[in-house]
Order: sequence, then structure tokens, then C-alpha cells
Amino acid sequence: MRYLDHLYHWPVIRRNQWRKPDELAAMQARALRRLIAHAYAKVPYYHDLFDSSGVVPGQIAALDDLRSLPILTKDIILANYPDRIIASDVDWTECSARMTSGSSGKKLDVVLDHSVAALYRLMQLRQLIDVGYKPWDKIAYVRFSPPVTNIMLQKVNLFRRFFVPLEWEPERQAIEIFRIRPQVINAYPSVLYLLAKTIGKDDGALLGLKFLLSNSELLTAHVREYLEDVFQCKVYDDYSCLEFSAIAFECRMQNLHVAADNVIVEVLDDDGRRLPPGVPGRIVVTSLNNYSMPYIRYEIGDVGALSDKACPCGRSFPLLEAIVGRCDDFLVMPSGEFIDPQTVVFQIETIPEVKEFRVVQQEDQSLVVSIVPERTVEFRKIREEIGVKLNVLFNDALRVDVIETRALDRGPTGKHRSIVSRTSHQGRAGPGF
Ligand SMILES: [Zn+2]
Repeated sequence: MRYLDHLYHWPVIRRNQWRKPDELAAMQARALRRLIAHAYAKVPYYHDLFDSSGVVPGQIAALDDLRSLPILTKDIILANYPDRIIASDVDWTECSARMTSGSSGKKLDVVLDHSVAALYRLMQLRQLIDVGYKPWDKIAYVRFSPPVTNIMLQKVNLFRRFFVPLEWEPERQAIEIFRIRPQVINAYPSVLYLLAKTIGKDDGALLGLKFLLSNSELLTAHVREYLEDVFQCKVYDDYSCLEFSAIAFECRMQNLHVAADNVIVEVLDDDGRRLPPGVPGRIVVTSLNNYSMPYIRYEIGDVGALSDKACPCGRSFPLLEAIVGRCDDFLVMPSGEFIDPQTVVFQIETIPEVKEFRVVQQEDQSLVVSIVPERTVEFRKIREEIGVKLNVLFNDALRVDVIETRALDRGPTGKHRSIVSRTSHQGRAGPGF
């Protein structure tokens, strides 16, 4: 019942997104000062780092001062975990440690105290309510592990969450969803896409969904359009991860707002300079609420751009223009030029006979495109079409092999990565803009 501890915060959490921009900036600066002082006093890694880089915690007063602090990487966390990166006053009986996906091959524990976990859940609820969710609506989660549920509330038919295992075949998932009759489905876009293909347009509209929630993978314009057409409802995406919970969430206008009362988002070039709105670069995130394991200027491994546009919804939380992809997912040409993953994805996902696919760039830069075709099609035609499209895109500079497969391995978390690069640029700071 940790929600109850935070309920008095609820009006503030809801109001934060409507604060005037200068109020919001002042609020972030206050939160940042508190966080920096805490990190210096309680976290050995930050204490030594600030001392060795000549940073005086009291001098970090405004958001711009963040620039004087070095970047935190996954490797630094791994080297300092747990004793030097977890706050010395953490009460472990009040914390949970969860493992991140390790999609880049490195597993990482994220330590959260229960109170922050409850705050994160309220922030998620804020997003849901603002796009039309009601506490008596049912949400079906299609994923590997069951969602956190509150048995007492479920008994009185509030905040009902249902679990549909991701490892089931889409046909079985569809039957379960029709049995549950949820108002909302929450899943990765690749999972929703297979479900939509299985259910089809006639039955999709019959479900009468309020909206779909997509997260954790890139939601492309093509997939969003397809899902909205099949289910006859909007798709709202969010940009979140275990380390920070909500980094950004979509409003009713389907614009992606940074959760500015939870994080500070910066976009940097390869030399660590801040990039102006509209220019994509490495995304670096600072958590304002997690004191057990502070993340200050954490390089999350994604590439995206901030926006200076105002959203018609009136929220003052700033907009993220686009998440282009993970740094690791950029393909590299023999010339050293980088190709953004979405350009490649678009060429393949818009072929209707392709059910699922993955593109792997091997160490020698050649590409292996694995395709799960729709049952009724001749694979040779797909192979030819993809070969032609990719050869045009890459100007014949990369070798492309298209192979047929029955299923794609989803890894330990079920997250699907359409593009995987095994070339030596992996682990570089960024794709170089
Ligand atoms: Zn908006």
C-alpha cells in the first residue's frame, strides 16, 4: 500500500506538468542541488569524482552547471557496483534490485527503494489518466513477467491488471485478450504488431479498446498506423527504462513530453557538447528522484533530439522530437558513414508479406536479414524485394543475405531489436553526427 504514502503527492504530480516553464526550471534546479549534495555526501563514486574533477557541489546551482559534471556510463556503474555507487545510508530491506535487460550484453542491477517505486507508479498513472484511462478500466499486459498488482484494489475492481504471457503464440494471446476484454493493452510494439496481424481489422475493432500503450522498443510510424487501423484506437508510446521509469510520455496529441519532474534530459554530440533542439545526438539522463542509486548524466545508449516546439495540449514539460535508435543499432558503411536504423527498418517493415524480421550487421560489415514470412507467401519474392531495396539504399556497398526463419529469438526480456550491429563501432560513444 505504498501508493497511500504518496497519495498526498498526487495533486502535485498532476500539477507539475502544467507549471510555467520558469517555475519548472526552478523546481528542477532545486531538485538537482539536493541530489548533488546527497551524491557527494553518501555515494563514494560521486564524492571522489567531484573532488578529482574540481567540482564543488555547492556551486552546482542551475541546470546549466550540470555541464561541468562527467558522464556516467554502464561500464562505470559495473566497475563501482554496489559499494561505491549505492548510497551508504540505503536501507536494503526497503529496496529492490532489478536486473536490466542487458541488451547490449552487459547485465546491470538497478536499485530502487520502495518509496521511489511507488512514486514512479503514480507518474505512470498520471500519463494513463491524461489519455483517458479510468481506475475501473482493465489493462492487459503482454510480457514475460506478471505486472505488479494490488490484490485489495483488484478485489474491488480498481486498477485491474491482467497478464498475458509473451511466450504464448499470438493466436493464444488473442484468445486470452478476447476473454479478458480489456480497455487497454500494454506491450512492446513488435508484440502489438503480431497481435494485430493475428486478430485482423474486423475483430480488432470489435474489442472496443480505448487505447494501446507501447513501450521499450522503437515505435515506427508504419507500425503505429497499422495498429491504429486494426484496433481503431490511438497508440500512446512512452520512453522509459528500469533505471529511470518514465523519461518521456505521450499526451493526447501523441507528442512525447519529457517527465521533467522525474528527469533532466540532455542531448550531446561526440565531444560532450549540448546540441540544439532538432539535432540528434547521444541522450544523457539525470534522475531527480532515485537517491538510493543516483544517476547523474547517465548515457543511456539512445540517440534522439530535443524539440523547442510547444505542444497544443498546453503542457510545459518539454518535447522530445524523436528517438532515432540505440547507438549500437546504427549500421556502418565501408566509408565510415552511419545509417540510421529507422531508414533500414522502413524498407522492410512496409513489405506486407514480412511478419517479423531482424537485420544483423556482422563484423565484416555484411548484413544478414532474417525474415519470418507470412504463411502463404513464396519466400523467393520477399528475398528479391528486400535485396533490391537494400542494395539501392546502400548503393551496393554492403553484402546482403536474406534468409528465412520460423521464429526470432527474443532474448531474456522479450524485447525485440530489429537492427543489431556486431561491427567494431559498438561501444563507441555515439554514431558521430
Ligand atoms: Zn502535449
